[in-house]
This record gives sequence, C-alpha cells and structure tokens, in this order.
Amino acid sequence: MKIAVIRELAPGERRVAATPETVKKFIALGASVSVEAGAGISASIADADYAAAGASVGDRAAALKDADIVLSVQGPAVDSLGGQKPGAWLVAGLNPFGERARVDAYAAAGLEALAMEFMPRITRAQSMDILSSQSNLSGYKAVLDAASEYDRAFPMMMTAAGTISAAKVFVMGVGVAGLQAIATARRLGAQVSATDVRSATKEQIESLGAKPIFVENVKGIEGEGSGGYATEMSEEYQKAQAELVSSHIAKQDIVITTALIPGRSAPRLISDAQIATMRPGSVIVDLAVEQGGNVEGAVAGEVVERHGVKIVGHRNVPSRLAADASALFSRNLYNFLSAFWDKEKGAPELDEEIGNAIRLTKDGKVVNERLLSN
Ligand code: NAD
Repeated sequence: MKIAVIRELAPGERRVAATPETVKKFIALGASVSVEAGAGISASIADADYAAAGASVGDRAAALKDADIVLSVQGPAVDSLGGQKPGAWLVAGLNPFGERARVDAYAAAGLEALAMEFMPRITRAQSMDILSSQSNLSGYKAVLDAASEYDRAFPMMMTAAGTISAAKVFVMGVGVAGLQAIATARRLGAQVSATDVRSATKEQIESLGAKPIFVENVKGIEGEGSGGYATEMSEEYQKAQAELVSSHIAKQDIVITTALIPGRSAPRLISDAQIATMRPGSVIVDLAVEQGGNVEGAVAGEVVERHGVKIVGHRNVPSRLAADASALFSRNLYNFLSAFWDKEKGAPELDEEIGNAIRLTKDGKVVNERLLSN
C-alpha cells in the first residue's frame, strides 16, 4: 500500500496533507509513503524531515507512481496526477459543489475521490473533520487580521495619559469559527457580542462571556437542519434579523462574519447601507467571502474600504497559519484512514455510513447522492 503526498499547486495554498508525524504513523500501519519534494516547505517542513520520518522523497512523478492513495489538501487537476491505477483513492478537500467539472474528471480517470469536507457530523468522525479543524484556526486568525487592520487597541487600557475603551466585537455565525473568534477576541480584551440562527448557540455564546444578540418571537427560530448545520431562514426571519443587525452594528468597531449554509451561497448579513452607519476606522472580516460573502462589497483576496470601514476578504484563511493548519489537517486524514485500516489486507476499508457520505466517484461514475441531488 503506497501513499503519495503531493505538493499543492493551487495559488496561495501553503498547507500540506501529511507531516512527518503522520508519515511515521502511516508507516507503522504498514504503508509506504512517498512525498513530493518541496511539499512541506511553505508549512515549514523540510524534505529532510519527511525522509527522517521514513518517507521517500522524490519528484512528483516518482511520488505518484503506483500510489494506491494520494493525499492532498485541495483537489488537484487530473492532468497534474500521474495516471493513477484504476480505483486509486484521492483523499482531500475536494470542494465538490464548487468544482463539479473536476469531480467528473476524477470519475473519468477511474479514481475513487473521497471528499473530506463531506465527512458526516457524527461523534466518531469528529477527529476526521477537516471543516472543524480548519475553521477553528480561521476564527482565530480572523480576529488577529481584524486587530492588525484596526488602528485602535482591543483591550481597555488605563494609562497615565488617560483611558482608552475596549473594542466592541460582533461575531455573526457561531459555528466552529465563530466560537473561536469569540474566545480569541475575549482573550484580547474586547467586549464581545454574537448572533446565529441556531438558538442552541445562545448558551455557547454566554459560556464564553459574550452577549447573545438574537431575533426573538419569529417562526422558525430554531434554525437548525441536519447534522447541526443551519437552514435557510424565512423571509420574516431575515427581515427581523436585518433590523436587529442594523441597530446593533452601528455601535460595533469590529464585525467578524462566518455564516455558511452547505451547498448554497453564503447568506448576505450586512448591506452597504448598514456599513455606512459604522464608525470610520471600523473593520469587518468576511470569512465567507469565497462562498459569495456575508458582506456587501467584500472582495475575495482583498482588503477594501467602504464608507471609511475596512472590509477584509482574505482567501483561504487556514493557509495563513500553514504549519498548524497542516498539522491538524494531516491528523484528520490519518485518523480517517487508520480508523478503517484492515490489518490483514494492509489497506483501508470504508464502512457504509462514512463511505457513502464522502465517496464522490467510483468505477468511472459520480456516485455521491448529496452531489447528484444538488
Ligand atoms: P458552518 O460553517 O456551516 O456555518 C457557520 C455558522 O453560521 C453556523 O453556526 C450557522 O448556524 C451560522 N449561520 C448560517 N446562516 C446564518 C445567518 N443567516 N445568520 C447568522 N448565522 C448564520 O457551521 P459549523 O462551524 O460547521 O458548525 C455548525 C454546528 O455543527 C456547530 O454546532 C458545530 O459544533 C457542529 N459540528 C459538529 C461536528 C461533529 O459532531 N462531528 C463537526 C463540526 C461541527
């Protein structure tokens, strides 16, 4: 069983899908691991470290030759692979809804493509969940990005020259990223409030010492669909939410938005008119900018200014913390493959629940229900 780890070719992608730690563990399972030279450089991992962990390090063609499993952070273009054996696995974050043509190409190439972001949200799969591990880091980094764009301080400071007041931070969307953003902003000394459509998050917000801002008395307030994900909200709810946000946002210095709905474009939470009510010098970070954006006027890959307010739209935020993001991503992949490792066969064997959820292609066809019904 040969596992190949390839260098990421997507622009701006600095992460890598295996670390020396996980290479060692794969070898302990009985696999051989080959790593493309330079794969870890941008995540601060030298080729020599992979070699010391027991991997063979070579050019891309050598790394890919005869591989049974290819590990990657993002989905590679089929023609950047080496004509893998029929049925070889490709395990990565494959952005299935956004990269449908590429999924078709994996099918045509006879690959079995496994999309790690389709991992079901069940307790036993928590340690395999790349969305959680990467969102957590995004939430943290979003606050640091906001702090570095903001030309005031976060904590209240009482100095001999007088007092400066604490920054007011508002987090919209309290999933994994939002919770970490609340915690990070609190650690920096900000006054934090937060909102979500899922009423279950109220308690979580309070437990982190932040103030929940919630739409009350509107039908469908639960806001929770399958797997703990949000559902799209009614028009009545959206109107009430917009009013609530309008009155709250004008008093905020920093807003971090993280709201996503799987398989759809991100909900629009902040309009240009609302931005105009904010104090000049305020900062908004839109973590959903690549999924269509929560904030009107946000531009993916740029920091833009509207009405004196900076709107930060960095792409691929986890990659901005490439070393830690790679370490967690790599462990997610190892936890996944090792959980299904069949010792006799010396290869992983997926069960139905997880296999059906994450398998996109098999035997030349696209087989994933969620993708086919989207
Ligand atoms: P997500 O990235 O899909 O969305 C981010 C947040 O935005 C969510 O909290 C969502 O409710 C919120 N949102 C959506 N539309 C909104 C709107 N119009 N206004 C305000 N907020 C809006 O979510 P996530 O971070 O992946 O987490 C969602 C839930 O799933 C959490 O409770 C998390 O703990 C849970 N989860 C469970 C597992 C597991 O059990 N394996 C793994 C990951 C996450």
